[in-house]
Amino acid sequence: MKILMATSEAVPFAKTGGLADTVSSLSIALADLGHEVRIVLPRYYGIDRGGLRQLEGAMGVHAGGGEVWSAVYVADLPGSPQKNPVAVYFIDHEQFFGRDGIYGVPAEPDFLDNPRRFTFFCRAVFQLCRKVDWYPDVLHAHDWPAALTTVFLKFGERNGGFAHTASLFTIHNLGYQGIYSKDNYYYTNLDWDIFYSAGFDDWNMMNLLKAGLLSADKLSTVSPNYAWETQMGQHGFRMDGILRNRSKDYSGILNGIDTAVWNPKTDPFLPKPYSAEDMSGKAAAKEALQREFGLPGDPEVSLIGMVTRLTEQKGVGELFGPTYGSAWSICRDMNLQFVILGSGEAWCENELRSLSSRLSNFKARIGYSERLSHLVEGGSDFFLMPSRYEPCGLNQMYSLTYGTLPIVRNTGGLADTVENFNQETGSGTGFMFDDLTPQSIYNTLGWAVWAYYNRREQVEAMRLRGMARDFSWKKSAKKYIALYERMSPASGSS
Ligand code: ADP
Repeated sequence: MKILMATSEAVPFAKTGGLADTVSSLSIALADLGHEVRIVLPRYYGIDRGGLRQLEGAMGVHAGGGEVWSAVYVADLPGSPQKNPVAVYFIDHEQFFGRDGIYGVPAEPDFLDNPRRFTFFCRAVFQLCRKVDWYPDVLHAHDWPAALTTVFLKFGERNGGFAHTASLFTIHNLGYQGIYSKDNYYYTNLDWDIFYSAGFDDWNMMNLLKAGLLSADKLSTVSPNYAWETQMGQHGFRMDGILRNRSKDYSGILNGIDTAVWNPKTDPFLPKPYSAEDMSGKAAAKEALQREFGLPGDPEVSLIGMVTRLTEQKGVGELFGPTYGSAWSICRDMNLQFVILGSGEAWCENELRSLSSRLSNFKARIGYSERLSHLVEGGSDFFLMPSRYEPCGLNQMYSLTYGTLPIVRNTGGLADTVENFNQETGSGTGFMFDDLTPQSIYNTLGWAVWAYYNRREQVEAMRLRGMARDFSWKKSAKKYIALYERMSPASGSS
């Protein structure tokens, strides 16, 4: 099959979160299965043109009532099979993408012209296919920045080379919908009646994600449990009604992980590789992690790690404050060390700095570091994810692969991948709690630390059980193929 991924992020070119990992890993897994996959992405300022090849001639894109000219670059996706490489196209436009940041910068977290930037990008996707004379069987759009591609396909583009193209829209995070003033609608070049029939209308605003949910032939999200939760009020972010209505077209396919990058046997960021047969490298990673964060080098103390975007969604707010249950009381009451690597909202960063300065066994590193994230996964005994909601979550799968026991809230993809410890039978792969309260985090962390000191055999058996789990993309890529095969614009599914 010919598959085109329309996305605002893809590793190693542009990443703010799991979306970037998913798009690239899935594309590679699909190419490994013999399918023809291409990715289209804006050429952000941070992507060096040096390593890319420019396609001949400028490309005119219809947007805003006129023609907007752009250049197109192309490169092979690193890690994709040599015999069947995944081509990545970059849409280059100085005014829209010639600046720092993907969606914004700290001083302007959501660029004012984002609706126009991504409208232009979505229009450019079609022009690109015409330019290179390559038309996909499946247009696979990811999250709100690419949602408009499904609308354009349904309302106007499904002809010529796209006559048999079907669209799949994947939700990576329903919390981000691309809601803007409808003053920006003119830029889509769509008639006003389509504003209502495609479902852009959202309390007199323009909602890009909502129009995508109503226009795509099929919908998916990144775990079965999140697919169910998003149809319920609590995690539906006002889209639950639409998703319930479209439940026959809506499925959840668990993300995999990139096992070439996340594998303790080959990880170059660890001081010494390790495996279930020889865990000595894990002790070396723990020592290196303690050294890196300026903690006493104690092999016996339990070590809790976290790597996260610092934002309300990740449940980090519950760790702050002086109340019973917060990180402050956890670190005061329990025999443990706590390390956190994160970047994001300023209020979180300030709270972490403050905690680090007051507690000798709590260390925070503010920033983004691929190397340190590997060391935290490898060197920790437990990995904490108290997420408010979690569409899939990658870190708990990395943790299981690295023999690090996840302590997670029972939500989204966390519930699909972690199995709660049963201290009667010793079964399970991690520790889970239901309520997002400081008390629940405190109690569950306390339970995990208790097990670490008092049920060491069960804890070690759990580590090995987690390491034996297969989170590679192969299984999930096959599920996507089965879904693509069920899709057809003529089936009247939209
Ligand atoms: P989300 O996409 O909501 O941020 P995921 O768990 O799906 O959550 O993916 C997050 C990805 O980003 C993981 O690969 C994680 O290791 C990485 N990550 C997040 N914050 C940092 C950081 N400060 N440094 C390095 N990697 C990070």
